[in-house]
Amino acid sequence: MFAIALAGFLGLRFSIESVDFERTPASGRFPVWKDPGPFECREQLPQEFLKRYNMFRRGPQGQRIFHNTSREAKAYFLERIIPSIHYRFTTYGYPSLPDAHAYVDDLMAQGKDPRPIEEGLNTTTFMGHVVVLHSKVIPAFKCVERDIKRDCMVSTELCDKYNSAGECVRKHSEIYKIRQNVSSWRDRDSYLDEEFSNHNFGVAVDLDPALNPCCGYGCQAQWQKHPRCQWKVDHTKRSEIPQCWVDAFKRYGFYWLGEDRDIGDTMHFEFLADPDKIIISP
Ligand SMILES: [Zn+2]
Repeated sequence: MFAIALAGFLGLRFSIESVDFERTPASGRFPVWKDPGPFECREQLPQEFLKRYNMFRRGPQGQRIFHNTSREAKAYFLERIIPSIHYRFTTYGYPSLPDAHAYVDDLMAQGKDPRPIEEGLNTTTFMGHVVVLHSKVIPAFKCVERDIKRDCMVSTELCDKYNSAGECVRKHSEIYKIRQNVSSWRDRDSYLDEEFSNHNFGVAVDLDPALNPCCGYGCQAQWQKHPRCQWKVDHTKRSEIPQCWVDAFKRYGFYWLGEDRDIGDTMHFEFLADPDKIIISP
């Protein structure tokens, strides 16, 4: 019954806004994360039911079937999006956004007590940049950071330009570092398909948004104008982020949206594993 009510609710709006914004609200609002001392993180995989890619029906070539094209496509989407949103609301908290109310009401009716997301947010740093993230996932970010500092501070060959056949025609080498900023928690809508962005839960970061483009479906128009979006290559090659960094994130349960063939959001890493399993207890 709830699904039917929610379908009507969701049907009111089908606006693709954007995947990414640079703005992170003032970090001074939230307590500084307390380092518990040395710890190890468990290697984990992202949970499949949380991947955006899996929320949509696919055509014969794997193309996304939009959920507003038929009743079946919408039902398929709702069957997947609702558990994903319920999981994040109960695991991390709910964002203070108008479209959150229907989900909060439903969880309350089930006897659950979701809390405002702000109760779980902390301020910390990632690779020297101040970020606001959910305290449950900060240990995973710290293990990623440790591995990057240990393994990735070596000169990496990066491609500056590809030809029409997708071959690299200009390379340079450098020790990669974040040049501009890291965007983390956001208190505003950044919906895609009536979704809630994982930035709204404090479990996602964008590394140098102006340099690592988002070229696919749902990306902001300004990102899609990035020259790298013109390259005739796979989304993953449009980023400056070295594979070593990507591997460090993936080791601890992060999903790289650069690998989502629909979106190709190369700046964006989100934690989709189990936050209760991050730290290996002695
Ligand atoms: Zn992002």
